[in-house]
Amino acid sequence: MNVYDSERMTDALTPMGYVATDRPEDADLVILNTCHIREKAAEKVYSELGRIRVMKEERALAGRETLIGVAGCVAQAEGQEIVRRAPVVDMVFGPQSYHRLPDLIARARSGNVVETDFPAEDKFDHLPAATSAATRARGVTAFLTVQEGCDKFCTFCVVPYTRGAEVSRPVDQIIDEARRLAAAGVREVTLLGQNVNGYHGLGSDGTPTGLGDLLARLAEIPGIDRLRYTTSHPRDMDDALLAAHRELHEVMPYLHLPVQSGSDRILAAMNRRHTRDDYLRLVEKIRAARPDIALTSDFIVGFPGETEADFAATLSLIEEVGFAAAYSFKYSPRPGTPAATLGGQVDEAVKAERLGRLQALVTAQQQAFAASLVGRTLDVLFEKPGREPGQLIGRSPYLQSVVADAPAALIGSIVRVLVTGVGPNSLRGRLAAAPDAVPAGRSPLPAADTTRNVPSPSIALAAGGAS
Ligand code: SAH
Ligand code: SF4
Repeated sequence: MNVYDSERMTDALTPMGYVATDRPEDADLVILNTCHIREKAAEKVYSELGRIRVMKEERALAGRETLIGVAGCVAQAEGQEIVRRAPVVDMVFGPQSYHRLPDLIARARSGNVVETDFPAEDKFDHLPAATSAATRARGVTAFLTVQEGCDKFCTFCVVPYTRGAEVSRPVDQIIDEARRLAAAGVREVTLLGQNVNGYHGLGSDGTPTGLGDLLARLAEIPGIDRLRYTTSHPRDMDDALLAAHRELHEVMPYLHLPVQSGSDRILAAMNRRHTRDDYLRLVEKIRAARPDIALTSDFIVGFPGETEADFAATLSLIEEVGFAAAYSFKYSPRPGTPAATLGGQVDEAVKAERLGRLQALVTAQQQAFAASLVGRTLDVLFEKPGREPGQLIGRSPYLQSVVADAPAALIGSIVRVLVTGVGPNSLRGRLAAAPDAVPAGRSPLPAADTTRNVPSPSIALAAGGAS
């Protein structure tokens, strides 16, 4: 989501003459787009600001101005505190204020600006669309935010506080953005939302539309051949969404469905509002709808009060489901969330030990899943050149990276690839059949990088990773 937001900020700055640069020292404006989900991600902001301060001072000696902004959820959560701890910062603004960037920049020239109120207007009504050139440069896969915020209030999580209440974008606005993406050569769209399957945007006739129906509408757009969405809550997997998995071949057989824990006691303390059994039964329904679906999850180890028996229940759930991959984290107490002040906080060493065991199990499952694909032919959407000359990297339907020898002209094509081997983080393969046609009128390669050595003002954006 931060990658998407950073792109939209870039789009908002384009009309002001800013162009993106990969070199922070060239940047007249640096925006750190931050993540507050765990302490480690939040703390990274301050170490990064230390580095940027040195750079700003060096540029000042050369007579060049540098504006520094902190955006995203750390900005939303800490506001004024950021300017106090790091006076080098000129602008602090939350995730709902990106559309005000031109105004924020103008105001920052005469003193620090902190903007963390949730604005009355919707940023999506005011953000300029990406230019076709910008979309092409970003490649053949794209993110598209359809929903923001969360009303679920899991006891460990800051999202409901930093991103605010659940809001769904209207259907027509999303269709319009997806059409623009398709027109610029995008073939795979990943719909984003903190609680994406809680999507309930209004259709043009004013009726609420769920994610299943939205996927059906998007699947009709010529050029959009692959659809994914993330992140889902188990409570919001409704029948229309299951039907989308069963019936729409554009919806990829891949689903990220975080469960967090396999222990009912911990799930209740987390306020997840589902049991272990609810999750297992849901997995059965999903697999009945789409038998080859690859499931992934998030796990938190060491939630307050988690015993060895609770943790064992999580491992047994992982054994029972069989995941294609998973993200797992040590519980990180977040200020202002109910779990942060619970008794029974678990020792860091215990958390680390449990995390190691969980990750070993998930890695074994991931490798076993990858190995089961050797000898099979998969549809791969080639995205970019590989590390070695003559190689391309693409994605399988199950979101794995696939590396194969293939001509650059196949970037943007979905090609049958025979899987021949498994690397630590990717599959190896070779072309199995003639590819589908490269869509007419689009360059097989992303547009040339026009971002260097340009005399116009530059912006460097860094999206704070959540991992
Ligand atoms: N909406 C999604 C998750 C969004 S946050 C859902 O409900 O599943 C992404 C992931 O970060 C979560 O799934 C959780 O595993 C992890 N996470 C969130 N808060 C955390 C915390 N305080 N400590 C450790 N991990 C956390
Ligand atoms: Fe956070 Fe997800 Fe729970 Fe919402 S549903 S509070 S985003 S973990």
